Amino acid sequence: MEQSKRILGLTGDGDDGWGVFYRARALKDAGVPVIELTIGEHDIRTHPSILDAMHSAALAGHTGYASVPGTAKLRDAVASRIETRTGVSTTRNNITITPGGQSALYAAHTATLNPGDIGLICDPYYATYPGTVRGAGGRVVAVPCHPENGFQPQRADLEQAAIGAKTLLVNTPNNPTGAVYSAKTLEMIAEVAQAHDLWVISDEVYDTQIWDGSHLSLRALTGMQDRTLVVGSMSKSHAMTGSRVGWICGPEPVVANLINLSTHTTYGVPGYIQDAAHFALDQGQALEDEVAHPFARRRQIALDVLKGQNLIKSAPPQGAMYMMLDIRATGLSGTDFANALLDAEQIAVMPGESFGTSAAGHVRVAMTVADDAFELALKKLISFAAHQAQSA
Ligand code: PMP
Repeated sequence: MEQSKRILGLTGDGDDGWGVFYRARALKDAGVPVIELTIGEHDIRTHPSILDAMHSAALAGHTGYASVPGTAKLRDAVASRIETRTGVSTTRNNITITPGGQSALYAAHTATLNPGDIGLICDPYYATYPGTVRGAGGRVVAVPCHPENGFQPQRADLEQAAIGAKTLLVNTPNNPTGAVYSAKTLEMIAEVAQAHDLWVISDEVYDTQIWDGSHLSLRALTGMQDRTLVVGSMSKSHAMTGSRVGWICGPEPVVANLINLSTHTTYGVPGYIQDAAHFALDQGQALEDEVAHPFARRRQIALDVLKGQNLIKSAPPQGAMYMMLDIRATGLSGTDFANALLDAEQIAVMPGESFGTSAAGHVRVAMTVADDAFELALKKLISFAAHQAQSA
């Protein structure tokens, strides 16, 4: 029996550069002590006070079907957080709660793309982006963002890609590059989006992880409120990846239809999880800073380690929990480097090629292991790179 093109299109051809990740997992399962600097998962767990709130909510009976759009108090808390951070007037009618940012990305594309419409993504991109656009019926066109430009999109590339496109997916702070888009870049994106009548889907799930510069939400730019759907999540800001709770913030008529979509897909997010998310947001910035701090610390460790050499180049990450290392001087592709590093040193990093074409010759390092192990792994990676460069 034939399956739909949409479901078959969720994954691309081949392993998309994820072979090294699966190999690392298999080695680990076989008992090899692999240091995994691959996926974006904190090495701390959800704060016990959030778990207490979750437990109390469940014991208090919030275990039945929850309100599909999200509970009023959580939608209000998200709206107020967004209004405080961006200055844009926001009410619960602009918010729907989703099971994490990923389902929000899918829903946002479903709300804006008709079958065959072009959905733009910026390359390098987060692994699920092409499949998300295809799964929602769209055709993917990538906007190259080159390392020479700090991985920020440039007007000429975006203008060219925007012809005939319907949506543009933007992610700042960025996974995989660690770039935080500048005000100038965001203003350029807003101008092109308006000139080409694009919907902008703004993935801001790393908005609490800023190391340099500041986060500006595209929705806050002139003329963008009615064409921007912001995707947010508790995963990264509160180390709640497993709780699956996020949101979409957008114009009221779109949010009303997104709620309709939830009724036909997820039927909402469990009430006790929503109560825990509400509790977590209520703790304010102190808890967000506590969750973000280990990455700021490790970023500094990495900058110090990299200072002692000039083979591997790396622009300091401005945000998020990753850094991109330019290993082109070794003569290897990112994929060959990552595979060889795994074999030689049992250190797993992601090849730049897993994120599109613009980060070829790079590897992405997730700053998600304890400081000592992180520092040692980076030092080994640098020695390994030096050895490769010598024997090239
Ligand atoms: N967007 C980006 C850029 C991400 O890196 C991730 C997770 N790694 C997500 C969205 C989805 O996160 P979640 O579904 O856990 O909110």
